[in-house]
Amino acid sequence: MTATVGEEWAQAPARRSRGLAVRCRGVVHLYRTFEGHDVVALQGVDLDIEAGERVAFLGPSGSGKSTLLTLFGGIQRPSAGKIFLGDDEISRMSERALAQIRSRRVSTMLQGASRNLLPYATTRQNLSFAKLAMKPAERRRAVPDLELLARVGLVRQANQSVATLSGGQRQRLALACAVASSPELLLADEPTSQLSHEDRDDVLELIHSLGDEFGTTILVVTHQPEVAATFPRTIRMLGGRVGSEGRDGAEYVVVGKDGVLHLPAHVAQEWPPGTLVRVEPEKRDRVLLTKPSGEPNPEEHSDRA
Ligand code: ADP
Ligand code: MG
Repeated sequence: MTATVGEEWAQAPARRSRGLAVRCRGVVHLYRTFEGHDVVALQGVDLDIEAGERVAFLGPSGSGKSTLLTLFGGIQRPSAGKIFLGDDEISRMSERALAQIRSRRVSTMLQGASRNLLPYATTRQNLSFAKLAMKPAERRRAVPDLELLARVGLVRQANQSVATLSGGQRQRLALACAVASSPELLLADEPTSQLSHEDRDDVLELIHSLGDEFGTTILVVTHQPEVAATFPRTIRMLGGRVGSEGRDGAEYVVVGKDGVLHLPAHVAQEWPPGTLVRVEPEKRDRVLLTKPSGEPNPEEHSDRA
């Protein structure tokens, strides 16, 4: 079955108007260290991201953000659990079909612009390389190199070697390369870190324009709240799990396996481990979590459950 999926994608047009939905169930990922220890990077992630959604992933260092992105991009396979892009389960796909996805439907920008670029090649050669896997017909329909370079403000640097570009220029080129093949899913790990405010805004604008124009599904990892604020949905990772979610400005804690909840950091700070919390059903879709009495007027916290 997976082989025929690959054939179909090979014939799909280069410019698409829709994004890819991303869904995962019980995703666990372990890394084995040289000493033979297992590091648990993800311990049961369940997510539903709709086609065309734009999501920013937040969370402390080591919480599994980069790992999750590489699994969605088909760069690594999960140790356990299922990952679907659209209707297809990529966690079980053949290597060949997975390679097709990586070159045609999904673009992953790894953390650190230079890791996505050929350092001794020119700006334009990097773009050509990014389009290498496309068929000639797809390439003819794709955004022309010069138009793409104009949109990332790198026309004058077209024949310059990557080694001579500034950090911001490299990041913009990495993004141009990522979108050159008109992906249905763009995964970008810290695409705006270490950039000036101006470069950051340029990169963000480009990312969002891709969603506006093509309906691309866009998942971005960032530690910058002002970057996350431009996304309608934020997912905060915590210890290899989804900790909480923000939607249209409101914060929600997410019920995990066996009903586990991660309290928001500011609440967890006031309610140390061992604190008794009273759970009261309030409405059908809400519960009230209340700190025990004994203290004057305990702070109340309410979350959708
Ligand atoms: P984040 O991007 O949120 O900082 P990562 O996905 O990079 O988190 O890492 C999650 C966990 O997996 C961390 O504990 C990290 O040390 C570990 N990890 C990541 N990559 C490797 C690797 N190649 N080998 C061993 N452990 C790793
Ligand atoms: Mg990371």
